[in-house]
Amino acid sequence: MRNIAIVLAGGSGSRMKSSKKKQYLLLGDRPVLWYSLHIFQNCPRIEEIILVCGAGEEEQCHREYVENYGFTKIKKITRGGKERYHSVYEGLKAAGDCDYVLIHDGARPFIDATMLERIFEGLADCPACVVGMPVKDTIKMRSAGGYVEQTLPREKLWMIQTPQSFSYPLITRAYEELILREQTSSEQDAGAAKITDDAMVAETILHIPVKLIEGSYDNMKITTPEDLVLAESLASHYRGKG
Ligand code: C5P
Repeated sequence: MRNIAIVLAGGSGSRMKSSKKKQYLLLGDRPVLWYSLHIFQNCPRIEEIILVCGAGEEEQCHREYVENYGFTKIKKITRGGKERYHSVYEGLKAAGDCDYVLIHDGARPFIDATMLERIFEGLADCPACVVGMPVKDTIKMRSAGGYVEQTLPREKLWMIQTPQSFSYPLITRAYEELILREQTSSEQDAGAAKITDDAMVAETILHIPVKLIEGSYDNMKITTPEDLVLAESLASHYRGKG
């Protein structure tokens, strides 16, 4: 089995309101991105890591993560695109033929080895698996005017995280179709513009079932400055894992 992790660090992180991109901010003495790379580096089932970074960051990332931190499984560092799904597509092209890809947001530092094991168990059953957790809050839909439109049934709702994991040929086919649709549509394809995760690509283009795997409540995405406070408190625990 040849399994590849695609780690995304190509976003601008504008909601963080920081001069440094959120994936490169320090948690303790390590960058946010270090934590998930460390888990993939130490997972025997992962053969290679593709790091997708921002334009012009390739050399700096090579120095920092390959030379300085010694993540020897990073075989390619490739430049991302405008939207997250463009960056994923670049990662898929760089990965080349393999069995499974685990697509992960570099802004989610706190994955762990047992979560990766659950994902691989899931993949043995179903070629599309994403991690997530049941929501704790009541979730409502808001109307354009700012009123409650609908209360969604909480017992059926999960918040979705990454890694999102797929058979490589399957997800590559879906992304090729997505990019083709975007290129051939006269206006910007409204469907493509609203793609916020990889499972959506599998759902909407391939119409295949996507299995939900238990992630963890620690597997937060660092997005806004207040997320850093919680992340700082989790970091020392996760530095020793993997
Ligand atoms: O913006 P958001 O928080 O949804 O980004 C999720 C992940 O995708 C982050 O790790 C970010 O660096 C990455 N990303 C990317 N290319 C983009 C946008 C986001 O690699 N164009």
